[in-house]
Amino acid sequence: MIEPMRPIVVAGNWKMHTTPSDAGDLARTIAARTREAGVIRVICPPFVCLAAVGDAVRDEDVGVGAQTVHHEAHGAFTGEIAAPMLRGLATWVIVGHSERRRDAGETDDLIGRKLDRAVENDLRPILCVGEQLADRDAGRAAEVVDGQLRGALTERDPAALAAVGLVIAYEPVWAIGTGRNARGVDASAMADTIRTTLDGLGWGERATRLPVLYGGSVTSANIGEFFDEPSIDGALVGGASLKPDEMAGIVARAALTARARGLAA
Ligand code: PEP
Repeated sequence: MIEPMRPIVVAGNWKMHTTPSDAGDLARTIAARTREAGVIRVICPPFVCLAAVGDAVRDEDVGVGAQTVHHEAHGAFTGEIAAPMLRGLATWVIVGHSERRRDAGETDDLIGRKLDRAVENDLRPILCVGEQLADRDAGRAAEVVDGQLRGALTERDPAALAAVGLVIAYEPVWAIGTGRNARGVDASAMADTIRTTLDGLGWGERATRLPVLYGGSVTSANIGEFFDEPSIDGALVGGASLKPDEMAGIVARAALTARARGLAA
């Protein structure tokens, strides 16, 4: 999937919220309130809600994604979900979210192997990277993100990852779920760093076509600051993605950018 222009993507990460009995209604409401040309919409509910969300948005142009996937294709891994199990349930997958790095001990090496499983199973990955507050305060943010990308992507085939449509989400850890967001200019500078790192990893021209999202306390009130930056192509939204009013506002703003960038009539 080599897209001629970078698409605009708004992905909602529902984290550990909703149940199979209420997820479908919420997804249906969000889908109906966010019908805008030129914006790729994705909902990532908990595993157990994937089927309900998929059914609810079957007639809508809304992607359904998992929030993680195991790094092996099968085996004795009690409680885990492998990529082949997602067939028919999800077409996207979040990989390397900071909450998984923090709580499940996910390393860059494991995250790279999850990307391999995504590629094998035609799942479109959203790879999350981002620094801790201490790193930013010490002026090491770019170095940390560069290291995360190298750890997960070195020796992985850029053509295969581009073909499956890799998206990178820059999510400064200090901004996730805190109500504190990065500045648009800092997110934009990091998007440039990300594309420079990928270029250095052999992505060449493909690096310029890689969508980079911002994530970290995005709301309908602050999303404009990010879409004002030409390097930013969308948002990975956590808390606000459970609120239809918020998603309506975020996707409406995304659609303005899609039109301005010639992605929608
Ligand atoms: C996230 O879960 O990826 C996220 C950015 O969360 P929040 O928007 O709540 O900060």
